[in-house]
Amino acid sequence: MSARFIFITGGVVSSLGKGLASASLGALLQARGYKVRLRKLDPYLNVDPGTMNPNQHGEVFVTDDGAETDLDLGHYERFTGVNARRSDSVTTGQIYSTLLTKERRGDYLGGTVQVIPHVTDLIKEFILKDTESEDFVLCEIGGTVGDIEGLPFLEAIRQLGYELGHGRVMYIHLTLVPYIAAAKELKTKPTQHSVKELRSIGIQPDILLCRADREIPLSERRKIALFCNIREDAVIQALDVASIYEVPKRYSEQGFDAQVLKIFGMDDHKHKPDLAKWDDILKRIQQPKGEVSVAIVGKYTGIGDAYKSLSEALDHAGIANQARVHVRWIDAAGFEKGDVAKELADADAILVPGGFGERGVGGKLAAIQYARENKKPYLGICFGMQLACIEFARNVLGIKDAASTEFGPYEDKEGKGPLVGLMTEWLRGNVLETRRHDGDLGGTMRLGAYDCEIAKGSLAAEIYGASHISERHRHRYEVNMAYREELEKAGMVFSGLSPSGHLPEIVELRNHPWFVGVQFHPELKSRPFAPHPLFASFVKAALKAEKTKGDNVVAISSKKKT
Ligand code: GLN
Repeated sequence: MSARFIFITGGVVSSLGKGLASASLGALLQARGYKVRLRKLDPYLNVDPGTMNPNQHGEVFVTDDGAETDLDLGHYERFTGVNARRSDSVTTGQIYSTLLTKERRGDYLGGTVQVIPHVTDLIKEFILKDTESEDFVLCEIGGTVGDIEGLPFLEAIRQLGYELGHGRVMYIHLTLVPYIAAAKELKTKPTQHSVKELRSIGIQPDILLCRADREIPLSERRKIALFCNIREDAVIQALDVASIYEVPKRYSEQGFDAQVLKIFGMDDHKHKPDLAKWDDILKRIQQPKGEVSVAIVGKYTGIGDAYKSLSEALDHAGIANQARVHVRWIDAAGFEKGDVAKELADADAILVPGGFGERGVGGKLAAIQYARENKKPYLGICFGMQLACIEFARNVLGIKDAASTEFGPYEDKEGKGPLVGLMTEWLRGNVLETRRHDGDLGGTMRLGAYDCEIAKGSLAAEIYGASHISERHRHRYEVNMAYREELEKAGMVFSGLSPSGHLPEIVELRNHPWFVGVQFHPELKSRPFAPHPLFASFVKAALKAEKTKGDNVVAISSKKKT
């Protein structure tokens, strides 16, 4: 049997959680024993989100095969455990880029190149590619119905419904049923309009998933069903929940997955999916036995989406330790050296995440110095590792101008090059990869999964319980190995290296209970069912620090007096 396709669109407003709804349905179908793949189609014109500001668009999620994708792919991976691939994410920019290359090459043989059929054909090709071995392919269409830029995608999925037939294609529409306080009523009109808009372009949704902040009365669900031409039990209410990991269970209770199977004419819709592992993590989330506070000193602290995988990974570490992890986001740009002790004193652990550019570097360095000197657990991710090396070189080795070329030109007095700089070539397996100083900004970083060898006896080896690991990367600069000897003599250990030994991957401090910097992004591979060992260990160290908090406070106040 070839794959069945489920298309998920959104209406009324954005940010209703289409990604989570898709990921949850994927998980529910999996819990019934099916093989699923999830894909995201984004109507914006950027070729990928790699060059977009995370404050605007949320984090850039990186796959093993090095694609820079939308953060929804992170939800898909976390909920289903299926590793996403480059071929699971596409944007209008990519479609047009392929189309224009073909046009220039003369592939269209002098024909007029048009949105229909040329753009829509490429979209369909993308959706259908490599799906033979799947039971279900879930495709989420970014944006909201009614957006001009989304039209070619909607037309393409309409055509697929026509071409593959009803037994193989289904449409799910996610809408909002808002509560109007003055009228004390939930309103169905926006949903009706959104479905009308979809139907005007030829798509009749099979299931409506209605987000609401309270129970939608049966009478209102009936009204929606009648006006939208949908069976009553296929109008599913999607109520707000405390944890995103509750979503699959709650949606299933409302009959979401059962309806999907029923609409495809599959007879196992009467059974229940096996959700035992979801129950287990929910119990750990809802009944924590301890709590810790982690200060994250970063730049994009305005919205949670900019660090989505990171906050999820910390939650997973909470699941691993059955503890609640409170995150305090600190904007590094407004953070002065003098504030450090005051701001960070009651944090049990400190984390500097990935980042780009010089703004906020002073605040991040001050936080790292504080963690190092006060023996607070510290995790530095990517930029956070590079800065940990810079802080150590400046304040322990006394190399005052230690810096990254990311901050500007470097005067090479010692002939060693900058402490953090651009590597122009390295080996990935047996393949030589190269970069140029004047190369494109988009898609030219060290991206995707790279192997790392861990030194025996190191903290990293203990944490991973392995000597060979693979982690995902997304960065342009590297810590310069020419400084390794000096740094190691002073107490920093290069405990993880690329197999060729050219690229530092993990550093740690010898005389510190828990201080680790990693050049990769471990948060991208953390899952609720397989919390990442680095985060689990970091939170465990934070829990330990929490227990001895009283001692720390004494130490700080006595320091102030002297
Ligand atoms: N800006 C640094 C680099 O490009 C770090 C990137 C990151 O933290 N993802 O190397």
